[in-house]
Amino acid sequence: MKDDAKLTGDAPVGTQSHKEEHGLEELYRDVIFEHYRRPHNKRAIDGAQIVTKGNNPVCGDRVTVYAKIDADGRIEDVGFDGKGCAICIASSSLMTEAVQGKTLDEAGKISDHFKAMMRNEVPFETPEGLPDMEALEGVRKFSVRVKCATLSWTTLKNGIVEYKAGHGESETEERCDL
Ligand code: ZN
Repeated sequence: MKDDAKLTGDAPVGTQSHKEEHGLEELYRDVIFEHYRRPHNKRAIDGAQIVTKGNNPVCGDRVTVYAKIDADGRIEDVGFDGKGCAICIASSSLMTEAVQGKTLDEAGKISDHFKAMMRNEVPFETPEGLPDMEALEGVRKFSVRVKCATLSWTTLKNGIVEYKAGHGESETEERCDL
């Protein structure tokens, strides 16, 4: 990386994409690695009504998402477990923070919105109270890594859809792929 920086002065046209492959700006990389090393809510939850697995074969990421739903239909506890790359684990960690305490409908919408942001379908916004999410914005440039970032969000959404179906709520949405 340091060598790359030295070269930028007279870098010939064409090295730009090479530089971008290396990547995520350092600050954001630090945030992602911090969540990777010390993920929040990385634990199975006893008695969770939602226990849903997801996997991203492209990268080898595998997660299980757990959510405990209270009597009012709110997510009273959420966690995840599994193995994955830094982006997958960091994004899973952030997902648990984003949906904690939300209703199932809200959490489903948050998940859909996150996916739309990562796919560049809507502008990227950092949610209030969750500044670390900004670190994932840069992942959008690496299309192959977007699925790493969306895996646990998609898995949660699938779990919500299945949970509602099992509770007789008519649900027009279907399970979604990555
Ligand atoms: Zn991955």
